[in-house]
Amino acid sequence: MRSLHDFKAYLFDLDGTVYLGPGLIPGADTAIASLRADGRRVMFLSNKPISTRASYAEKLTRLGIAATEADVLNSSLALATYLERELPGARAYAIAEAPVIEDLVAAGMRIVNEPLEADVVVASWDRDFSYRKLDHALQAIRNGARLVATNPDVACPMAGDVYVPDCGAIVAAIEACSMRPVDVFAGKPSTLMADLALQRLGVAAADCLMVGDRVNTDILFGQNAGMGTALVLTGAGRLTPLEEGPCRPDFVLESIAELTLV
Ligand SMILES: [Mg+2]
Repeated sequence: MRSLHDFKAYLFDLDGTVYLGPGLIPGADTAIASLRADGRRVMFLSNKPISTRASYAEKLTRLGIAATEADVLNSSLALATYLERELPGARAYAIAEAPVIEDLVAAGMRIVNEPLEADVVVASWDRDFSYRKLDHALQAIRNGARLVATNPDVACPMAGDVYVPDCGAIVAAIEACSMRPVDVFAGKPSTLMADLALQRLGVAAADCLMVGDRVNTDILFGQNAGMGTALVLTGAGRLTPLEEGPCRPDFVLESIAELTLV
């Protein structure tokens, strides 16, 4: 059995793992600083598509964990990278907020407002989702467009035990009326996100430890990619009895602070 500190790279989920809402998980800054000081690579992975990677880097830096945009990967970039490779220059009807649209445009996608012009429907977390957008997605798909999406999460936990609808719920509505399953979710637990992370880090999957608070996304993601996995009990993990998960993490930690190298 490998130890927690046998890995060259450490991939961290953000909410519930590094911070909880506005506040740092106690000891997260010390743990990450100790790994970096020892030459380990660190990267942050988020499924949440409604904020830019730059804003996550700013928040981490503000909380005492120096980070740049390049240290952060999210489901939006994973999807844009996938589309750039699989459907270069495609015309996309996007049910998404500005950060996702920006990534699609940067990846060479052409955004269309007319559903019958679309080669692909991109679904994401969109707080302006409407009957009209659902109808447009249906018409585009019936006309032959593919359906792809940023992240499978159906609801996102906010401060104070409040949940709000996320991308997975919007995709479920599109799937229900089009009777077509989504082709691709790019975020965790997809290997698309892992491929991007490994390419950036330049290390083998087996040399990475994925650290997160959700069994069904973070731990499954790490296992799908062939990484080591550590579940922290500071976020959703504390509510998820391990026995109910489809897979078991290699390590279970009270918090990220246990990763501190001394
Ligand atoms: Mg989390």
